Amino acid sequence: MSKIFCVANQKGGVGKTTTTINLAAALAAIGQRVLMVDLDPQGNATMGSGVDKRKLTHSVYDVLLAEADIAQARVNSVWGEAAAKPNMATYHVLGANRDLAGAEVELVNLDNREMRLKAALAKVDHEYDVVLIDCPPSLSMLTLNGLCSAHGVIVPMQCEYFALEGLTDLVNTIKQVHANLNHDLKIIGLLRVMFDPRITLQQQVSDQLKGHFGDKVFNTLIPRNVRLAEAPSYGLPGVVFDPAAKGSQAFLEFAKELVERFKHF
Ligand code: ADP
Ligand code: MG
Repeated sequence: MSKIFCVANQKGGVGKTTTTINLAAALAAIGQRVLMVDLDPQGNATMGSGVDKRKLTHSVYDVLLAEADIAQARVNSVWGEAAAKPNMATYHVLGANRDLAGAEVELVNLDNREMRLKAALAKVDHEYDVVLIDCPPSLSMLTLNGLCSAHGVIVPMQCEYFALEGLTDLVNTIKQVHANLNHDLKIIGLLRVMFDPRITLQQQVSDQLKGHFGDKVFNTLIPRNVRLAEAPSYGLPGVVFDPAAKGSQAFLEFAKELVERFKHF
């Protein structure tokens, strides 16, 4: 059975997509069979995996509307020349593009509208160890489809002043989904990203987070690292683009930490 995780935070620009693609690549690099689902109409996770969102024959949109199966719609991540590097296994991508922006409205009148992704994933469950879902920056019907499919949520966050307050809405949504729609759902952990230890405030917020959420805070810290930000312009996860970079190393560590946590699932 695959483990299905949503990477979610209703704030934009907090590192969801960077986390999704680098974690997908890092998990693949340590031998996990990975499907990455892009649930954001911006399609950044798709492009960042080397897949041209404008050239998709089928996307997650078709899957949500039951016009294609995942088996038909998925494609392989594309590393190009970087594929020559050792240990850079690819993963499967269920891509997204602007079509998905319409899904919100089209889903409204359909039965089981929040369970569509879950139903589709059930058919490929045996093919993957991990499914990672990149959520849009909202608590929309798309995010709800992600949360209803998942066993858990990974929450990337920056250690900034309002970080804790911003979490309240997400935690409440997760509680509601847990109570009403998906009893499996829980927060797997909070991932501190874009971390700069030189900034005292970030250290303070990081300590606050630990005080508040205890071992729900992942041990691994993802540093602010320009290589992670550059990589998408080459259509590559940072972990593939520059495996030696500090940020890439951190994501490889994180993949190992996550696999270790699976065992206590
Ligand atoms: P989201 O998906 O939550 O909107 P992104 O993953 O797209 O966030 O990240 C927002 C911006 O921050 C992007 O430009 C990305 O390249 C950059 N970024 C994310 N994580 C890091 C990091 N660890 N170091 C440096 N830049 C980062
Ligand atoms: Mg994103």
